[in-house]
Amino acid sequence: MAAVETFDTVVVGGGPAGATAATDLARRGRSVLLLDKAGRIKPCGGAIPPVAIRQFEIPDHMLVAKITGARMIAPSARQVDMPIDGGFVGMVDRGPFDEWLRERAEAAGATRRAGTFERLGRDDSGLSLVHYRPRDAAAGTSVSVRARTVIGADGAISQVGRQAVPGADQVPHVFAYHEIVESPASGVADFDPARCDVYYQGPLSPDFYAWIFPHGATTSIGTGSMRKGFALREAVAQLRRTTGLDACATIRHEGAPIPLHPLKRWDNGRDVLLAGDAAGVVAPASGEGIFYALTGGRLAAEAVDEALATGDARALALARKRFMKAHGRVFFILGLLQRFWYRSDWTRERFVGMCRDPDVQRLTWQAYMNKELVRAKPAAHVRIFFKDIASLCGLAHP
Ligand SMILES: Cc1cc2nc3c(=O)[nH]c(=O)nc-3n(C[C@H](O)[C@H](O)[C@H](O)COP(=O)(O)OP(=O)(O)OC[C@H]3O[C@@H](n4cnc5c(N)ncnc54)[C@H](O)[C@@H]3O)c2cc1C
Repeated sequence: MAAVETFDTVVVGGGPAGATAATDLARRGRSVLLLDKAGRIKPCGGAIPPVAIRQFEIPDHMLVAKITGARMIAPSARQVDMPIDGGFVGMVDRGPFDEWLRERAEAAGATRRAGTFERLGRDDSGLSLVHYRPRDAAAGTSVSVRARTVIGADGAISQVGRQAVPGADQVPHVFAYHEIVESPASGVADFDPARCDVYYQGPLSPDFYAWIFPHGATTSIGTGSMRKGFALREAVAQLRRTTGLDACATIRHEGAPIPLHPLKRWDNGRDVLLAGDAAGVVAPASGEGIFYALTGGRLAAEAVDEALATGDARALALARKRFMKAHGRVFFILGLLQRFWYRSDWTRERFVGMCRDPDVQRLTWQAYMNKELVRAKPAAHVRIFFKDIASLCGLAHP
């Protein structure tokens, strides 16, 4: 019988979180297996901020478009343009982007395999056993490897999480759906290849937003909602009809859940740690998850490396602690924003109205681009606060 292979870490899932964790651990000299299902492109709008490009060394050729502004559209169809002052949002296509991330992990020294994670077990010595079905293997074929640690980066509805971490099955989700279409020429149907359009309209989404995100030759048109039974496809069809983008050829359509709340625990106290969507870390209100998955993968690698070096499993909890220290406040504020401003067309109208304010625009872009709450201009914060209150009380024009 062949000896069972043993790895310092088995990373389940080769999206932004898993591929980053595998790269960082391999660079630290750890033996890593990166296991990914392969064959499916992650449904995603693909917008990433400059801080992600900088911190995770994303090369320019991965960016299929550079967005220089957003347009917010209110329930009344009023439009507010939010230009980015001197910067851009990068757009990636998840097929080639995720593959490039996995190749980087392999180049760093990780062993890469295509296969589907099935279950966790334990051998007689207490080490985790990861059972998976290799891609192209006959039905019923299962392979096992031993793992000193396991990183579950297998996305929303993580199987690793469900099997190992209490509470992992209780994350609230937005269900998102989008259609990838051939981009029209600039100016046709009011389309601008350098602008993201964001629709805050109840019929398109009763509690989130709908979007048109250009990706060079293609464009993502989508929507999301937490409401079970909301007709996402019909909403996208309506958005395409009203914008004239129903004339564009559809390349593919797909949907996926977006988790909107970090789990209370990311580890099992012993040898399993979750990262990215599996840990529930997508920003509320915006649905932004790529930067947080890259960051979660990096923090998971750090924590696992510390646990392996010291033999102290408590180090695994550092990943969540460090993440929440850096981003917990922003997640809390965005959660309030979503619950409050996205709940009716009346509040959405006022929310879009507020976005006309140059201070709101500047602070929003600075926070998004650099992932830091901007403290530099307290007077602007106070002004925005009073404008918020005035909007809410109906004292200011929406
Ligand atoms: C429609 C939509 C639009 C979005 N738009 C944006 C956006 O514009 N910008 C943004 O920042 N975020 C966006 N997000 C969120 C973003 O896509 C996720 O937050 C991000 O992909 C999370 O990365 P991850 O590595 O944690 O998980 P994933 O990207 O989901 O990767 C998980 C990986 O695990 C693998 N896997 C799953 N199960 C198994 C298994 N059993 N065995 C082996 N491998 C497995 C999958 O193949 C996949 O490669 C969007 C999400 C959706 C659904």
